[in-house]
Amino acid sequence: MTQNVTGIESLSYTIVRSARRTMSVEIQPHGIVVVRAPNRMPLYEIERFVALKSAWIQRRVRDAQARRALVPQLTGSRSFYHRGEVRTWGFAGDGADLTVPSRVKTENAAISYVERWQRSEAEQVFSTMIADALPTIGVPGLRYQGLRIRAMRRRWGSCSSTGHVTLNGHLIRVPDGCIRGVVVHEVCHLAHLHHGPAFHQLVADVFPDHALADAILDAWTHVLYDDVLTP
Ligand SMILES: [Zn+2]
Repeated sequence: MTQNVTGIESLSYTIVRSARRTMSVEIQPHGIVVVRAPNRMPLYEIERFVALKSAWIQRRVRDAQARRALVPQLTGSRSFYHRGEVRTWGFAGDGADLTVPSRVKTENAAISYVERWQRSEAEQVFSTMIADALPTIGVPGLRYQGLRIRAMRRRWGSCSSTGHVTLNGHLIRVPDGCIRGVVVHEVCHLAHLHHGPAFHQLVADVFPDHALADAILDAWTHVLYDDVLTP
């Protein structure tokens, strides 16, 4: 069951009841607050819980909104995201950031050209970041067998037990720090093929800012889902 409630001051939240025993608060990427509560908990108890946590919730909502503001907005149809920035493409004389070659005559052919250009940029950037990350994990880095780039809808990357790292080609659209976060995550799977404590410790050692990078990537994921990842 879902109901909308306006609580203290400007804090509004959605209550989702289910067969659970405890309460929890979840701040979604757009800054939407979801309070999960047991089926039969009285409303006044839920309100008291939210009131107790309101300062924390409001801080988290502001953080989520600030993260979203980090994503530059596309301004026109000849724009695209590249490494966290809005770039433009155009034909000769347009003064765009990326000029398509003179053999490319149509809008559709130009879009294909931009996609191929981004794909080759992705290969270079991802390969360099992987090469930088491999020595930082020590001997397990030797298990690396190569990079695959795919346009995936549901995940940014994966690492196989055979030592192949697969990265989402759309990752070239987000800032370098976020790309690095995904690269480090997958490279650390060469040492630990799970998400246990040893894995997280290694990620933290190799990339201390990984939590911030992940948070910014969350904001980007939402915007890219609206833009290019829509199924
Ligand atoms: Zn993983």
